[in-house]
Amino acid sequence: MVKVDTPTLEQISAGLIRVKAKQKPLYPYPPDLQMGYDKVVLAFLMSGKPDLAPASVPEFYELCEQPLSEWGVEIDDEIDSDESLLFFSEPTELTIELAEAFGGSVLSQEQGKIATKLLQHCHSHPQGIQIYTKFRRFIVEHPVLSNQEFVEAKGNFGLGVGLSELLDECYEPIPSCHELEGNFYACPYCYALAGIDFSKQVIANSCCNRCPPGRRLKRKIKLPDNCLKLKRSIERFWFYPGRAEIQLYQKLLDIKLDVELYPERDSYDIKIKFNDGEVWALDLKDYSNPYLLVRNLGDEPIPSEPEWNVAYIVIPAERKKDRPAYLKELKSKWRWENVKPIFDDAVFALAKKKAGLVEDYSEVSEELNKETTQNKSPTKKKGTHT
Ligand SMILES: [Zn+2]
Repeated sequence: MVKVDTPTLEQISAGLIRVKAKQKPLYPYPPDLQMGYDKVVLAFLMSGKPDLAPASVPEFYELCEQPLSEWGVEIDDEIDSDESLLFFSEPTELTIELAEAFGGSVLSQEQGKIATKLLQHCHSHPQGIQIYTKFRRFIVEHPVLSNQEFVEAKGNFGLGVGLSELLDECYEPIPSCHELEGNFYACPYCYALAGIDFSKQVIANSCCNRCPPGRRLKRKIKLPDNCLKLKRSIERFWFYPGRAEIQLYQKLLDIKLDVELYPERDSYDIKIKFNDGEVWALDLKDYSNPYLLVRNLGDEPIPSEPEWNVAYIVIPAERKKDRPAYLKELKSKWRWENVKPIFDDAVFALAKKKAGLVEDYSEVSEELNKETTQNKSPTKKKGTHT
């Protein structure tokens, strides 16, 4: 069997994102795409099947639209071979996650630049913390905008705030490939822009985390003309995880907990302070692949400031639908003792219990029981993290 390892897939992914970012013909090929392709060809050669290898980079690029299972190669079990790297020439979620593991992609660099500008601006502004939260929240609530709404937003973030120009950097005109008979549509689940396939159907976009990419949308939202959409980098790193962050934040507020969104300008996502003084730090991570999430967490998954006693990496429970063993897979590679992985519904239940808001314990799902059992491990440290 021809074996293609994950680092090769990571390199190919970095190359595919580069192709998309330059928005030009495939040639000249990005070096990572060329090198990744060479490694695939080499794998076929080594297995004595050179005839079965894709004949050229363009042919290989076409193959990237097909599920990995169609490549005629064996890949690591950690990667789902039903997935493809491209979807109507857009890099898929898997591709973005693989490219991140390769040392960052142009997408995360773009998002990083915008994040730095926002942080620098908010540091120098007396209402910086409120402005930061307001801006991030606006992005999460507006994956698409009419021109009119955009002009209004620029006004709101303009005078006295100074972020009007940064808004320009977050949005772009909708590419015409999203148009169907003069109209644009959004997904009814995530509200982001929907795609259009070759047979003129409105379909879920490639990073919708509610519907599999390419699934025809029965319900859809018709958008006004002249809309703008979030740039892909902002969509991927702020909008999709941000939805779960804001939903969880809102639920915690609704039960009257003392919560802060993006404390200290985004050290982590949510800070909960309980009546007994205990502080929880929550950081949401929305990855389709749990192994790639672990690879991207780094040595300190949650910064130690502002101080906390208990810290969680929180995964949107929606991820369970596509991958029922998500948490188990994540835990099999988990290497941090003071930070635990948990689903958002479970951490909400735990917070509710901690705040004494659950009288009938049967109300809390078995999810919670699982989490509690797991927390009894001898490695658990509850002391203040410094
Ligand atoms: Zn969607």
